[in-house]
Amino acid sequence: MAERKVLTKYIPPDFDPKKLDRHRWPKNRQIKVRTMLPMSIRCNTCGNYISKGTKFNSRKEEVVGETYLGIKIFRFYLKCTNCSAELAIKTDPQNSDYVVESGATRNFEPWRQQDEVVDNAKRRRAAEEMGDAVKSLENKTLDSKKDIDILAALDEMKSMKARHATVSLDSMLEALQSTYATKDRGF
Ligand SMILES: [Zn+2]
Repeated sequence: MAERKVLTKYIPPDFDPKKLDRHRWPKNRQIKVRTMLPMSIRCNTCGNYISKGTKFNSRKEEVVGETYLGIKIFRFYLKCTNCSAELAIKTDPQNSDYVVESGATRNFEPWRQQDEVVDNAKRRRAAEEMGDAVKSLENKTLDSKKDIDILAALDEMKSMKARHATVSLDSMLEALQSTYATKDRGF
């Protein structure tokens, strides 16, 4: 059998690998990838709702000249399932999320707004405390005061529950029924 695998290759003595051109893809090269929509959106052109998890044959490219702490950001081009208008979304590493860039609007998500409020409060506090030891101490004191208040409220609720523990559901229903019965007789 002839040799099937080439184990040795002739390399001419004047071969210089440095003279070879390194193949480089252009920076904004687009590749086709099959993606799932990471959030529910609404097409701006036709008003069609596209739900999270819809699969697309999308084109993916690197967003040139934009990074987050050295992390690359990618853009995906999709087509509306109804009108085929082009939509663009890109990754958002800062919030470990995606943002709609054009062609559509993201549907309102209450949990996201809640997260945003918490994040904003944290960010504001961090900015306040930056290099301000007094402010940080103040905030810490407020925190511990809040904790104590919560514990006190919890204790109060516990004692209230203990006081009412003797009233069972059955006895409560019985009492209600008897009051209704007396009311009925009265009319
Ligand atoms: Zn559309």
